[in-house]
Amino acid sequence: MTNLVADIADTAAEMPENVALSFAGQDVPYAAFWARVGQFARGLADAGVEPGDRVGIYLPNLPQYVTAFHGVLRAGGIVVPMNPQYKSREISHLLADSEASVVVTLSDLVPFVQEVRDETAVETVVSVNGEADGAVTFEEFLADEVLDVVDRADDDVAVQPYTSGTTGTPKGVLLTHENLAWDARATADLMPGGVKEDDMFLGVLPLFHIYGMTVTMIATLFEGGGYRPVPEWDAQQAADIIESEGITVMHGVPAMFNDLVNQPNADEFDLSSLRFANSGGSSLPIEVMERFEDLFDVELFEGYGLTETAPVTHANQPGERRPGSIGRPLDGVEAKIVDGNFDEVAPVPEGPVDEEETDLDEITGELVVSGPNVMKGYYNLPEANEGAFTEAAGKRWFHTGDIGYHDEDGYFFVVDREKHMIVTGGYNVYPREVEELLFEHEDVADAAVVGIEDERRGETVKAFVVPTPGAEATPEDVKQYCLDNLAEYKHPREVEFVDELPRTTTGKVQKFELREDAAE
Ligand code: ATP
Repeated sequence: MTNLVADIADTAAEMPENVALSFAGQDVPYAAFWARVGQFARGLADAGVEPGDRVGIYLPNLPQYVTAFHGVLRAGGIVVPMNPQYKSREISHLLADSEASVVVTLSDLVPFVQEVRDETAVETVVSVNGEADGAVTFEEFLADEVLDVVDRADDDVAVQPYTSGTTGTPKGVLLTHENLAWDARATADLMPGGVKEDDMFLGVLPLFHIYGMTVTMIATLFEGGGYRPVPEWDAQQAADIIESEGITVMHGVPAMFNDLVNQPNADEFDLSSLRFANSGGSSLPIEVMERFEDLFDVELFEGYGLTETAPVTHANQPGERRPGSIGRPLDGVEAKIVDGNFDEVAPVPEGPVDEEETDLDEITGELVVSGPNVMKGYYNLPEANEGAFTEAAGKRWFHTGDIGYHDEDGYFFVVDREKHMIVTGGYNVYPREVEELLFEHEDVADAAVVGIEDERRGETVKAFVVPTPGAEATPEDVKQYCLDNLAEYKHPREVEFVDELPRTTTGKVQKFELREDAAE
């Protein structure tokens, strides 16, 4: 294989007029897109970037993100994506650790880079939206000539995203050209007929995160489809874009689908142009899936993955799905559930199991995976690498840190993240089970469950609930509802109504914040 972006040259030659990018009413055809990518790549080479060098992209979802990303790869460099919500403190570790020499960013973010520049290897800052002190503009940076695609080997690193750091200092994840090319193709193949020339993907998932990067941007541009970047999530705006621009594919996180169904005018949305909708990143409550499908008459599939697996390892797909399940491993990925001794835990006959009736400890274990999309390793962190992998039966298995089980038909179910499990009075409670129940309550718009410290029980269960507008139920009613439907040890002893839940930009509830709030 060669460079992961090399095939775009063929698309640009064969379908020069087909739309690659669409933004704010402007379409950029493949020929023009690929030419700009080449000019950007040459600009990097002129700035001294050599194959294997790292370049930071510190931008929201904008067309220039896509150009810069492909330009870095075309020049044989490594992209270090950085969350545009980060401030100096947060980017300083990423820049110092990666030794990026060029950073592409917004004029408003240039000062954050300047502030830490002395501690890093940054030599050039590029501002995509006009002048800023200490930066050159995107237009100035583009060279007059293009650079030919630089050859790369399968296991050369292409992208180095960082983990979000909820469990310590963010770790650089080394993803190779093969990891990304394989995963982008495999996820594109989940759609009926694969990606088509006239597909337009909605780009609401942030591009600094692996999910948006591979599954939306790379997957569509690889195969000649179009990408529509959307810098910020807003449910009403997303629905308008889908309807007015004829978007055909939407990938999102559960919080986005929940937002869509909870809009007061959701029944007026016309999302019928969507031919494929998929949720990932955290568990999709069955209730949200059903409401989405009822309201919009579009099937909503669920997939699963991690940054370290580029990202998707499991997915449901048309004709093959089981609600509540993360689906089956992609063809080419192997997955199993293991106990603490790395012995395989037997599958259940059929899933999903009734979690009330089943002793989950008997059927669950840690999900481990092996396949062509599993990262090369963490950057410069030998100890973390040792803990992340187990070599067994000639394979390298990656530990996901997620607890789950599988059934005899090969469907996997994630019960929860290992670190989210609550141990109360000796019993294990998986927050997800309580959250699923809360979502079924008509007065609940959003919910998250955490363990809080308790002298007697070690931890107790607490639920944070966002009530629907005009809800009649009180926190006490919600607590009673849980008690009526769950074993006593699982029901939240505290229910607190809040206006919203703290979430990361990738839609995950920041449970550590909720635990801190509760402790206060
Ligand atoms: P960090 O690892 O630093 O805490 P993070 O959680 O943002 O950061 P990601 O790689 O974005 O890291 O997320 C991977 C995790 O997301 C998985 O391990 C799993 O817990 C969760 N996840 C993804 N998809 C699903 C799904 N469909 N159902 C349940 N959990 C999911």
